[in-house]
Amino acid sequence: MIVEMAKGASKEQINHVVERAHSFGFEVQLNLGTEKTVVAILGSDTGKASTDAFAVLPGVEHVARIMKPYKLASREFHPQSTIVNVNGVEIGGQRVIIMAGPCAVESEKQLTETAKAVKGCGAAIVRGGAFKPRTSPFSFQGLEKSALKMLDKVRTEFGIPVITEVVDIQNIDAIAKHADILQVGARNMQNFALLKELSKLRHPILLKRGFSATVTEWLTAADYLLAEGNQQVILGERGIRTFEDSIRFSMDISSISVIKRFSHLPIIVDPSHAAGHFAYVPSIAKAAVAAGADGLLIEVHPNPEEAKVDGLQSLNIPNFEKLMAELKPIAKAIGRYI
Ligand code: PEP
Ligand code: MN
Repeated sequence: MIVEMAKGASKEQINHVVERAHSFGFEVQLNLGTEKTVVAILGSDTGKASTDAFAVLPGVEHVARIMKPYKLASREFHPQSTIVNVNGVEIGGQRVIIMAGPCAVESEKQLTETAKAVKGCGAAIVRGGAFKPRTSPFSFQGLEKSALKMLDKVRTEFGIPVITEVVDIQNIDAIAKHADILQVGARNMQNFALLKELSKLRHPILLKRGFSATVTEWLTAADYLLAEGNQQVILGERGIRTFEDSIRFSMDISSISVIKRFSHLPIIVDPSHAAGHFAYVPSIAKAAVAAGADGLLIEVHPNPEEAKVDGLQSLNIPNFEKLMAELKPIAKAIGRYI
């Protein structure tokens, strides 16, 4: 941490900063410039002290961190890229993992039909919401526990892992029993109580980016999941809210390279929730694979017109099949496969 003193700060004020640093157990290095003094606060755990603890002291002009606020999710801490193993399906390896299925599980028929079709097209994982975090309490909330049973049946029948969202602590155990990946949705990215409980599991967790969260906040939230030793964390970019209103969310393609640079965790991209309309899904999906995403999470419905949730952004099966065919040469061009 770097503490910049104001021009003309007194010797006493500088000493006060030094004493405060020592009280935390940190070392200091003083740079007595002709105009300004800069105090470098050194130590392996300076991240534990807030910058405010120094900013509040008299004579201090500015405090800046050199270290990132996240640690466990950082590449500095863990240089090698993490590969998450979901019952033999590796996320973060050479294969680009396609997860596909309905936004919400609506019936056994709808889920089975979709699972069969997406598996046939090369999807490695089936998605399906059982508990839905809806903006309005009057919207369809999901089939909840009965949907979990349907997902469980699909994974056994088709031999394919399933992913579903966890919205609260009380359903963690039931979801962990019936699903292979637990998804934390954008609205819960900073639900720290939920993240702390999930950190106790050893199940893979997909942490979606909050739509107003910076990459730094997202990775710091991932630290909550890693804190109790769960190493099976996947990041999910799903678009952020910007001033642009012609599309549901703006897909931040650049976050893929930023994550790859600063974190060891795999990253997948959800083009459907960014798009909000099926017409935009294929181009966003292709851009994400080209940019180095480790996988995609795509909403597919056998009959989008009848969908209870997110029908407009869901691909029908022929469109999903077409997209899969288009994605393959893109993956190949960057030395990967689907
Ligand atoms: C979802 O995947 O069904 C979902 C609700 O996504 P998000 O949390 O990204 O909005
Ligand atoms: Mn959805």
